[in-house]
Amino acid sequence: MQRFPQPLLTGYRNFMTGRYTVERDRYRQLADAGQTPHTLIIACCDSRAAPETIFDAGPGELFVVRNVANMVPPYEPDGQYHSTSAALEFAVQSLKVKDIIVMGHGRCGGIKAVLDPNAAPLSPGDFIGKWMNLVKPAAEQIQSNSIMTTAERQTAMERVSIRNSITNLRTFPEVKALEDGGKLQVHGAWFDISNGELWVMDKESQDFVRLDG
Ligand SMILES: [Zn+2]
Repeated sequence: MQRFPQPLLTGYRNFMTGRYTVERDRYRQLADAGQTPHTLIIACCDSRAAPETIFDAGPGELFVVRNVANMVPPYEPDGQYHSTSAALEFAVQSLKVKDIIVMGHGRCGGIKAVLDPNAAPLSPGDFIGKWMNLVKPAAEQIQSNSIMTTAERQTAMERVSIRNSITNLRTFPEVKALEDGGKLQVHGAWFDISNGELWVMDKESQDFVRLDG
């Protein structure tokens, strides 16, 4: 029989004796009543930037979508496969989340790739390259900025991409209507994996401001 990864077996045992034991009633209640998460988080697949860990969230609290570089595509009802849009639709229309957070992070590999003019496709499908086309125009502008260092361009692009995703979120008619009606709030956040800092986007200025820990 194929062997399940040992770190996961160990982790699962720890979960069952630790967290599940503590939260058994909560899991049962969620199983019976269904989930009512208050927040949708769109985060990166990066193993270092897990929203449930960063926000110390328990079961049933966060509805999480993770994709490469935490991006939201624009509203495109074209009959194609749109996994992020499907999750967004479910969170907004069915779960009626009150907040949506687009959370980027430092040292993002997807952002690094889009800023690298020599990046070659990883496979013939070049799925990452095509996905990152969502921010290619902004990346080309930032690439041409010779005053910034490579690290500064990376951080700038991570934040520009968050703003771009928020702009795209608002192209979904339901998101726009709920936000305009005061029933839904849209936020940007950026997590620095090197020191644990969380920076939150100011709604008016769109600048990122560090939260006090
Ligand atoms: Zn990332």
